[in-house]
Amino acid sequence: MPNIPTTQNTPDVAPTDGWRLEHTYARLPQLFHAPAQPVPVSRPGWVMWNRTLADSLGLNPDSLAQPAAAAIFAGNALPTGSEPIAQAYAGHQYGHFTALGDGRAILLGEQITPSGERFDIQLKGAGATPFSRRGDGRAALGPMLREYIISEAMHALGIATTRSLAVVTTGDTVYRQQPLAGAVLTRVAASHIRVGTFEWAAARGDKNSLRALADYTLARHDPLLAEADNPYAAFLEAVVQRQAALVAQWMHVGFVHGVMNTDNMAVCGETIDYGPCAFLDAYDPATVFSSIDQHGRYAYGNQPHIAQWNLARLAESLLPLLHDDQPLAVQQATDAVGGFRQHFQHHWLKGMRSKLGLGNEETADAALVDDLLGLMHTHRADFTNTFRNLCAEPFADSLLLADPAFRLWHERWRARLGRQTESLDASKRRMLSHNPAFIPRNHKVEESLAAAVNDLDFTVVQRLLDVLANPYDGRSDRCEYQEPPPPGACPYETFCGT
Ligand code: AMP
Ligand code: MG
Repeated sequence: MPNIPTTQNTPDVAPTDGWRLEHTYARLPQLFHAPAQPVPVSRPGWVMWNRTLADSLGLNPDSLAQPAAAAIFAGNALPTGSEPIAQAYAGHQYGHFTALGDGRAILLGEQITPSGERFDIQLKGAGATPFSRRGDGRAALGPMLREYIISEAMHALGIATTRSLAVVTTGDTVYRQQPLAGAVLTRVAASHIRVGTFEWAAARGDKNSLRALADYTLARHDPLLAEADNPYAAFLEAVVQRQAALVAQWMHVGFVHGVMNTDNMAVCGETIDYGPCAFLDAYDPATVFSSIDQHGRYAYGNQPHIAQWNLARLAESLLPLLHDDQPLAVQQATDAVGGFRQHFQHHWLKGMRSKLGLGNEETADAALVDDLLGLMHTHRADFTNTFRNLCAEPFADSLLLADPAFRLWHERWRARLGRQTESLDASKRRMLSHNPAFIPRNHKVEESLAAAVNDLDFTVVQRLLDVLANPYDGRSDRCEYQEPPPPGACPYETFCGT
């Protein structure tokens, strides 16, 4: 088992900025990475700086907020102790296996926080790498701001996610369908090891490298499992459990990831890769926002199924490590992946009970939830607002109330609330802390991005971020952020590879 160096190995410390970078990932076999220097940009300019996150990472929120420090987050200057690399990985994209790797992301190193935690510091959009293929290695301001907004909103919602530390503009133009302002996002993650990283090693048929990766990942994310009878089977099981919990949380807030390729699934259990993601307005399990997801592979309601499919790819990759006896290895893999459904159902129902204020369990609870969702689907009820409205007396959704079937459901639910020892007040409080008032509404996100990109007015993004930082605190002066899109608005569409 590799020994992940701890803070006892003193890394370089820049006294003012607080960088304490190590690079244990770069010690993995060469197969897993390639040196990749950020390509300098013309004019680094500050756009977003996440002071709270910086502080929790042990970085100096003030010294690093200086104009000159934008050079670090643009890739023009390297923080002390960094060792820039691009990570190699493969992935099943829309079901098809491909060799990929970081084409526009550069991992500087792992920041060791004051409490000894380890986080990847990655620059996204920092220039071409050996894995860029025909891409330019760059990113545009709009999509990087979008990732910043949505990842920070997910964090505030209590959902495991990569974080966004900074966005800087580059002063250079990137060309997509049109010329756009270039930007670099600094992404922070427990690690960027993906299902696709394991697929990469497995595809090479290199068992030693696969073992090195698995040992490294275990030591980094599941150190206690090293003592298990079969650490690799225990690791697979742990990843299955984390993904079941994560996808259940996505379902609870109406999040559609949009591009659940295996290279976009992190084994640490954080939501990663905010490309074409978006949140439901009207409830419909078939909702797809991504313009290229023609067949709804990554539709809202299909996410648990796809997560399990991706985990099967992880399990296949791990087969050589699970057991020397092939049929036994297959059996272990099948059992672990097969367990996803039950784990997911457990987390999903637990969260849905909380959303409905239920503190105890009855067998018919799943049916109660399903029936509500069925009615919401029929009436295209707003996902977020329906649950939030249920927290208040009297229930105020006239559209749903007009349906006798809904009124019957409502009586059933009230009767069910009465069959627990918890007071009604206590269950309403539970509901308020599980049903967000504020999610990154697609039209509000777009409005803020338009102000930023077209007018270089970042105040609209900042205001949105302030609201999203407290999603469960339904302040009445923030009602406009609760509005669904205006009637007749075009269906929201998102784009990949931006
Ligand atoms: P994504 O859809 O963001 O998960 O990206 C899929 C793959 O395309 C990854 O290997 C990315 O690194 C790569 N990629 C996306 N955009 C670019 C770009 N502008 N230049 C180079 N590679 C890119
Ligand atoms: Mg990706």
